Amino acid sequence: MNDMTTLPTTAAGLWLADFASALESQDIDAAVELFAPESYWRDLVSFTWNIRTQEGPAAIREMLEARLADVKPSNFQIEGEPSESGGVIDAWFTFETGVARGRGHLRLLDNGKVWTLLTTMTELKGFEERKNERRIMGAEHGVQAGRKTWLERRKDEEARLGYEEQPYVVIIGGGQGGIALGARLRRLGVPTIIVEKNEKPGDSWRKRYKSLCLHDPVWYDHLPYMPFPDDWPVFAPKDKLGDWLEMYTKVMELNYWGSTVAKKCSFDEATQTWNVVVERQGKEVVLRPTQLVFALGVSGYPNTPKIPGAETFLGEQQHSSQHPGPEAYTGKKCVVLGSNNSAHDICAALWEYGADVTMIQRSSTHIAPSDSLMELALGGLYSEKAVQSGIDHHKADLIFASVPYAIMHTFHIPAYDAMKQRDADLYSRLEKAGFMLDFGVDGSGLFMKYLRRGSGYYIDVGASELVANGSIKLKSGVNIDHINPRSVTLSDGTELPADLLVYATGYGSMNGWLADLISPEVADQVGKCWGLGSDTPKDPGPWEGEPRNMWKPTNVKNLWIHGGNLHQSRHYSQFLSLQLKARYEHIPTPVYKLQPSYHKR
Ligand SMILES: Cc1cc2nc3c(=O)[nH]c(=O)nc-3n(C[C@H](O)[C@H](O)[C@H](O)COP(=O)(O)OP(=O)(O)OC[C@H]3O[C@@H](n4cnc5c(N)ncnc54)[C@H](O)[C@@H]3O)c2cc1C
Repeated sequence: MNDMTTLPTTAAGLWLADFASALESQDIDAAVELFAPESYWRDLVSFTWNIRTQEGPAAIREMLEARLADVKPSNFQIEGEPSESGGVIDAWFTFETGVARGRGHLRLLDNGKVWTLLTTMTELKGFEERKNERRIMGAEHGVQAGRKTWLERRKDEEARLGYEEQPYVVIIGGGQGGIALGARLRRLGVPTIIVEKNEKPGDSWRKRYKSLCLHDPVWYDHLPYMPFPDDWPVFAPKDKLGDWLEMYTKVMELNYWGSTVAKKCSFDEATQTWNVVVERQGKEVVLRPTQLVFALGVSGYPNTPKIPGAETFLGEQQHSSQHPGPEAYTGKKCVVLGSNNSAHDICAALWEYGADVTMIQRSSTHIAPSDSLMELALGGLYSEKAVQSGIDHHKADLIFASVPYAIMHTFHIPAYDAMKQRDADLYSRLEKAGFMLDFGVDGSGLFMKYLRRGSGYYIDVGASELVANGSIKLKSGVNIDHINPRSVTLSDGTELPADLLVYATGYGSMNGWLADLISPEVADQVGKCWGLGSDTPKDPGPWEGEPRNMWKPTNVKNLWIHGGNLHQSRHYSQFLSLQLKARYEHIPTPVYKLQPSYHKR
C-alpha cells in the first residue's frame, strides 16, 4: 500500500475505533468529542427506531443520552477501502446493536472529526431473510403422508389469509410502493395483504397516458431483490414497467388482492387492530391487521382548478391523469394548463399527432435536459459508468442516504451550475420564447424541488425544443380567467379557441387519502406528508430535517405511509419493513422523537 491508501484507512480506522470504544463504554462525552462543530448523524432505524438526522453535537448528545444504553452498539468494523477526496475521507463500516446488524458511512475531516455519519439497520438478529445459505430447500426429500406441493400450499395460503387468518400488515395501494414493501415483508415472513383497486399489478402505470416512459434511468429504478436485466431500456415504457411489476408480484409470491377497493378504516382500541373494510370483487370483506400502511402514491387526489364557466365548455376537459393520449385530437385546438412534467409530455404527444397545442405557464419551471441530468446529477451514482466503477444501486442508495438533507442542496448546486452552462443555448431560446425558467430558489435544481415540494420541473426529453421553436405555442405569466363554450379567456384578456382543455395541475396532499379512508381528525393528527420544512415555496418551515411522515412512525399508532419514486420505494421499504418486522416479533421499538406535525395538509 502507498500513502494515498494507508492514510485514509488508518485515519478512518482510528476514528472508528475511538467511536466504538466511546459507545461501548457508554462514554457520551468522548463520543460527542469525535464530531465536528458542524456535523450530522443520520440514522435509519438502527439507533432511533425512527428516521432522523441529528444536526450538530448537541443533538447528537441528546440522542445518545436517550438511546445509547438501550442500543448497545458493538463490533464496529471498517468495510472496504476508505478513500480521500478534497480533504474529506469517506469510509464504510459495519456494526451491531443489541438486536440488529447495520451498515454505516462516515465523512471524516482532516482535523480528525466527523462531518457526516450515517447508520442504517440491515437485518434483525435471529430474523434474517432466508437467503443464500439460509434459503429454503423447496423440495422436501423423504416420504411424508398427505404431502402438499408448493402450489397447493400457496393456494391454501391465498384462500385462508384475510378470511380464516388475519394478516399482520395491510398495505393499501398496490403500485410500485406497495409491491416493493410487500416483497420485503414476504421475505421477512410477515403475513401481509396488498389491497389494490386496479385489476392487476402494473395497471397504475398502464392507465397513464400512452406516450409515458419513465423519466428516471434504469440504474435508479430497480425493485428490491430482482434488478432489471442488463438489456432493459434506459427509460422503460410505462406498459413494459407494468408487465415487470405484474411478473414481480407473482414470483415474489405476494398476497395481492387486485380489483379490491379499500373503503373505510378505523382503529379498534380494544383489540389494538385496524378494521379495514374492503370491497373485493364486489363482496365486502373486513380485514383486521395490526399495522396499516398507506401506499397510495406520491401525492393525493388530482387537483382540478375551479374556473368560472367550466360547466359551459362544449369541448372535452380532463385532468392530466385522465388524458387518454393524443390520437383523437389531430387537427384540434388543445389548451394545456400547467408547465411541469405531465404538461410537457402531453403537449409533445398532442403536437406529434398534429394537434394545435398551447401551453399555459402560470409560474416559472425548472427544465433539466434528460441527458445533462443523467451526466451531471445522477451519473456518479446511477449509470453504467457508476456500475462499472463498483457503485451498484445498493451502494448508490447508501451514498445518497449519507448526505444530510440540511446540506444536500450544496452538493447539488454545482451540478446545476454546470447544466446552466452546458444547456445555455436551449435556456436562452426558451427565454426568448417567453418561457419562465428557474433552478429552484437556491439554484439546487430538480431533486431538491422534488424533495421540498414534489413539483415545479420538467425533465426534458424533447418538448422544450418544441416550446423554444414555437411548435408548442406558449402563453406565460397568465392563468385561465374564465372558460367559454368554445374557448378560454386568459387573465391578460387573450381568448384562445379550444376543443380540448387539459388540467396538468398536479395533485393534492397525500393525507387527503387519510381523511377519506379514516377521518379528517386522523389526517390532521398525521399532518402534511413530504417536504422538509425548508421554508421555500410550497415547503413551509420549520425545518424538520427529514421528509415528513414517510417510512417512519407517524403520530397515529400503527399507521404508516410509504411511497415515492422507484429509488425511494426500493430503498426505504427496507427500513419500513424492518420496523414492521420488529413489531411483529415483539422486539421493543422505543421511537426516539416522533416528529410533531406542524402543518395539517
Ligand atoms: C407522468 C408521470 C411520470 C412519472 N415518472 C416517474 C419516473 O420516471 N420514475 C418514478 O419513480 N416515478 C415517476 N412518476 C411518479 C410515479 O407516479 C410514482 O413514483 C409512483 O406512481 C409512486 O408509486 P406508488 O406505488 O407510491 O403509487 P401509485 O403508483 O400511484 O400506486 C397507488 C395505488 O393505489 C391504488 N389505490 C388508490 N386508492 C385505492 C383504494 N381506495 N383502494 C385500493 N387501492 C387504491 C391505485 O389504484 C394505485 O395503483 C411519474 C408520475 C407521473 C404522473
